[in-house]
Amino acid sequence: MNLSLGAAGEIAWVLGIVAWYIVRRPFERRAKRVRVVSSRRTLVENVGLASALLGLAVIPGFYVATGVPEAGDYTPRAWAVVFGAILFASAIWVFRRTHKELGRNWSISLEIREKHELISTGPYALIRHPMYTSFLLMALGQAFLIANWVVGLAGLVGFAILFFLRVDKEERMMLEIFGTRYRDYMERTKRLIPYLY
Ligand code: SAH
Repeated sequence: MNLSLGAAGEIAWVLGIVAWYIVRRPFERRAKRVRVVSSRRTLVENVGLASALLGLAVIPGFYVATGVPEAGDYTPRAWAVVFGAILFASAIWVFRRTHKELGRNWSISLEIREKHELISTGPYALIRHPMYTSFLLMALGQAFLIANWVVGLAGLVGFAILFFLRVDKEERMMLEIFGTRYRDYMERTKRLIPYLY
């Protein structure tokens, strides 16, 4: 029973990652066709992106495939698998909403595109970084779905590195481009969690 519960959590995680990629892929393809007019993709940015990729995909993917590192394994619980699946599903829902809302303005890194528009509708009416909120939900989902301390928490660490290396720079870039419009927008929104932070 315990073994199959662990497998259920891992299968839910794999399905979540597949759904994530199905949402992301069309935007990656479209982004290639919209010209970048200003890029702030520095070494620090690449370190952040690599950390997120490692913690949210490579480490859990390797664990699901091989069971390594066994050291952090603990007994999976049904409630944790259900809760993790709900968190992951909500992450995908928020991720999809933010991509639809950002449309052609989306970039994987810190970039301003030709005819870049400031989006402040949909999830962006409440928080400035709803896509990063979806990453946080995904990382929390992973922590509950994968019954291994090291692998479960790797997603949160990867997310935190990307977020804290990036967020100030992203807001500074948006302020440079949109000036008082972004300042006003900052005044009426939070960063990640509506009404809180
Ligand atoms: N931080 C946002 C967007 C992530 S994608 C979120 O978490 O939802 C990163 C790119 O989106 C940045 O390079 C920037 O060019 C763009 N961006 C960020 N906020 C934006 C906004 N409110 N309107 C338009 N583009 C935005």
